[in-house]
Amino acid sequence: MNRFWSPLVERLHPYIPGEQPADPNLVKLNTNENPYGPSPRVIEAITAELGDRLRLYPNPESDALREAIARLHGVDREQVFVGNGSDEVLAHAFHGLLKHEEPLLFPDVTYSFYPTYCELFEVAYRTVPLRERFEIEPNDYLQPNGGIVFANPNAPTGRALPLADVERMVKASDRVVLVDEAYVDFGAESAIPLVARHDNLLVVQTLSKSRSLAGMRLGFAIAQPHLIEALVRVKNSFNSYPIDRLAQVAGIAAIEDQAWFEDTRQRVIESREELARGLTQRGFDVIPSATNFLFARHPQHDAEQLARSLRASGVLVRYFKKPRIDQFLRITVGRPDQCQALLQALEKIL
Ligand code: PMP
Repeated sequence: MNRFWSPLVERLHPYIPGEQPADPNLVKLNTNENPYGPSPRVIEAITAELGDRLRLYPNPESDALREAIARLHGVDREQVFVGNGSDEVLAHAFHGLLKHEEPLLFPDVTYSFYPTYCELFEVAYRTVPLRERFEIEPNDYLQPNGGIVFANPNAPTGRALPLADVERMVKASDRVVLVDEAYVDFGAESAIPLVARHDNLLVVQTLSKSRSLAGMRLGFAIAQPHLIEALVRVKNSFNSYPIDRLAQVAGIAAIEDQAWFEDTRQRVIESREELARGLTQRGFDVIPSATNFLFARHPQHDAEQLARSLRASGVLVRYFKKPRIDQFLRITVGRPDQCQALLQALEKIL
């Protein structure tokens, strides 16, 4: 209780991000970052932007970056919104598009920022249980709703929903359906091609994962212009310049270097399959993943204890002490040497 706090702040349960350790020697497999650096063209673009121009405000609407994203996805610039990380894009969407009388629906196991946004923006919500192996069942969403949000592939489970099922969910609601595609480039089908025929579909992606730019904070949404306009209205009532000059040029360079993107994501996908085999051989139950992380449990070993032992051996993974998933570890796919270090540490612990 603090007499200076608003009643709302008093009630909040802020999101807790994964640890960013001070020790650079830890094998860091806990926050789903890309183990490979961004395209060298990103570094060149940032270097070229450094200088006197930094005294000037950036383009408030990030026009050139939106143009590059629009070109990549075959849509118009008016169909693209960019934000300071997809977290900010999601926040504006919760605030501006998902708040209605009826409850917003999302899975019981999904990105834990969703309930936090609901608290902050006072959005009523109802969680819908995932099925046995963490599958989303579209029929479960056939109920009155003020909108639907889910991650595809889902996090922290890693499971992907086929596009036909995504479309069924879009049709199941006469409110906005937000598909959070933070991990889509590692193995799922994007719903962006469906945007043209559904006026209630908002697809959100990030440059943090498959474009290796978690440190630049860039995310975007694609939808029909009337939904984008709502996000712009919220943005311009909050912060007119969310994307700084360096991030704007970095984002364009990352989007334009398709060869770098393809090469690094293929490497991550190959390492994921290899790591899944290694974990399975060591007795883990590994949920099929379409992302850059694996969600796995060991039937004979407590997950929280495993996470603690791994940390003591110099390997950081993510553990969530939450209903249904408190016996699972979420393990980011690293470089081959990092995956090897994890498997060797496990060998000793098990
Ligand atoms: N959505 C999901 C499902 C995520 O896991 C993350 C990463 N924590 C985000 C969105 C946000 O990513 P960013 O803000 O870095 O774009």
